[in-house]
Amino acid sequence: MSQHRAAGNRVTPSNSAARKTGASRHSAKHRVARRNTPGSTQIVGLTAALAAAAGAVGFSHSSLASPTQANSAVNIAALSGSSQLSEVTTARIERRQLATRDSSRVELSSTEATKKQAAADRLSKARAAKLDATRALTAKRASALAAAKAAAAAAEQKARESATRCEMIISDYRITATFGQGGSRWAANHTGTDFAAPIGTPIRSVMKGEVIFADWAGPYGRQVKVRHDNGTETWYNHMSKFSVEVGETVYAGDQVGAVGVTGNTTGPHLHFEVHPDGGPAINPMPWLREVCGLNP
Ligand SMILES: [Zn+2]
Repeated sequence: MSQHRAAGNRVTPSNSAARKTGASRHSAKHRVARRNTPGSTQIVGLTAALAAAAGAVGFSHSSLASPTQANSAVNIAALSGSSQLSEVTTARIERRQLATRDSSRVELSSTEATKKQAAADRLSKARAAKLDATRALTAKRASALAAAKAAAAAAEQKARESATRCEMIISDYRITATFGQGGSRWAANHTGTDFAAPIGTPIRSVMKGEVIFADWAGPYGRQVKVRHDNGTETWYNHMSKFSVEVGETVYAGDQVGAVGVTGNTTGPHLHFEVHPDGGPAINPMPWLREVCGLNP
């Protein structure tokens, strides 16, 4: 019934009210009819399309050509039915084709996936191998570096422990009095060399040795005496502070105190003395040059 009405509406396109009623009433069920309601030209086109569709899926043309079905509305209604059937059939065929395509696509994609996986595995293995090689190389380098560092540290320690290695006793100084110089401040001639420098300037042991004295010593002020392995003593005087204690082992360059103005002095300086075998003082300058290889 509804098909008849839809068809009827289509053959009287000028009746817009009826068309609208029919269209709205069957809007969901008859998409084909609804789509083609606007004009007769389109209906002719639809008829041809339906006929083609019906023919394509094997429906007889006789249903269209039959003289007993002269009523075009009935014809179209039949076509509409045929069209729905053909749509269903076409849809089934399409679904089947789609399913076939899908399955072959799945097969194809699974083959591609396998290939991709294999390639990814190869890449992964290659990367792992490269990483292993890099790690091995890094470990080897680290080991070599550690060995080199250890060797350097050992060499440095050995040099530091060397009894003959020397370091300058003070930096940024100015020599203000030399050995043997006469002067009113000294009972005899000057027994050392004066290195003038600001208060607090570090004073360092010239060689490895043992601290044998670190105390006040009258005109020397704060005094540190270091006895070196060769028996020579070096004395550091007029200091503002002590950096070592008696009994302590010091190495060349280790700080023993700082420049001060303690004892018999008119300005901040290091009064430095050298006593071979703990005996009388000698001129420090040639000793620093010849024994220590320094250039004061
Ligand atoms: Zn002096």
